Amino acid sequence: MPPFNLETCARPNILALQPYRCARDDYKDNGTNILLDANENAYGPSLSATAAAAADTDVDLLGLNRYPDPHQRDLKQLLCTLRNTHAHTPKTLTPDHLFVGVGSDEAIDALLRCFCVPGRDRILVCPPTYGMYSVSAQVNDVALVKVPLLPAPDFALDVDAISDTLSSAENNIKLVYLCSPGNPPGSLLSKSDVERLLAHPTWNGVIILDEAYIDFAPEDASLAELVTEHPNLVVMQTLSKAFGMAGIRLGAAFAAPPIARLLNNLKAPYNISSPTSTLATSALGGDGLATMRRNRAAIVRQRDRLIAELPKVEGIGRLRGGTASNFLLYEVLDAQGRPDNATAQAVYERLAESQGVVVRFRGNEHGCLGCLRITVGTEDEVTRFLEAITKVLAEVRGLQEPDGGAA
Ligand SMILES: *Cc1c(COP(=O)(O)O)cnc(C)c1O
Repeated sequence: MPPFNLETCARPNILALQPYRCARDDYKDNGTNILLDANENAYGPSLSATAAAAADTDVDLLGLNRYPDPHQRDLKQLLCTLRNTHAHTPKTLTPDHLFVGVGSDEAIDALLRCFCVPGRDRILVCPPTYGMYSVSAQVNDVALVKVPLLPAPDFALDVDAISDTLSSAENNIKLVYLCSPGNPPGSLLSKSDVERLLAHPTWNGVIILDEAYIDFAPEDASLAELVTEHPNLVVMQTLSKAFGMAGIRLGAAFAAPPIARLLNNLKAPYNISSPTSTLATSALGGDGLATMRRNRAAIVRQRDRLIAELPKVEGIGRLRGGTASNFLLYEVLDAQGRPDNATAQAVYERLAESQGVVVRFRGNEHGCLGCLRITVGTEDEVTRFLEAITKVLAEVRGLQEPDGGAA
């Protein structure tokens, strides 16, 4: 018997939830019914005439006076179609495998509320990793257990250490949040490492794989369809990165139907706004996908350019982690040639304050000493960044020379 048992893993109050029902679950909006069930405003949205006209042509915002669809099955089907590659299993994802939320951030939080009893249960994370797992855990009064990634050579999972930690029942670990490609490491986790964790012989918990950057990784890298094989796997994705739709807030969690059902039961019924749904549907349609692929190809070209050009800049050290994402993690070296946080922090500040170029200092993260995380921008932005960092590094490191950079 595999140890995963949803009935004992999820919180009892969530298992017992009766989802909120609206009258339109009983009587569909067929376009001819008059809708006097939900206390909406039948006179329409309060928009200026110009906003209303623009809305009508662009994204049909005139239905804004109505509550959005709580189920979003058409949108879910588009997400399934995108991920049914059959690269990893002959089985097929359906809308019953999905939860959609206000960004992946809603899924991160919903999973915590679904499985972790506040003040008792814990989650496991693998630093360096995305900050929202710990923020959301703290909001929910759920403690963290950290098992760092193995920095050399490529920020891989420490599968043995994670397995040992999960084996101790007194750790009360319900969820493991993994990020692939990682943020900030930018490397893909190995499929066999993830599968080893899924096959843990005694642990009754859920593995969550955050694939926010998966469309920048090689073809067929997504493991989303593996949720058809594993009752204890959740794969999160988002339209915020490769699809360029961070402003609409649309994230998804693929899971076996029993977990997806719990997440759907606990969410607020109208979490996905109708403009978000309309725009996400457009992004996942034929033209939207073609645009995403074109933009992704441009980003990959600029990523390759940064990988070629950055090592030539005096004071840039090793690329840390991988290249499967739309950002790169590079060491900044002090005047003695050592990766150094003070230098990286100074470069970070000067880049922003004197050059108007904002990157992210990640030097305090595990295994990231002296590192900056640089998002791949447009061709012009990369050009500007390369000029700026060359200049700023020369200035900052010049000040560190024994002669104070007078030379
Ligand atoms: C950017 C990012 C997300 C996206 O979050 P949204 O709420 O969907 O915008 C999720 N996970 C990681 C690791 C990220 O870096």
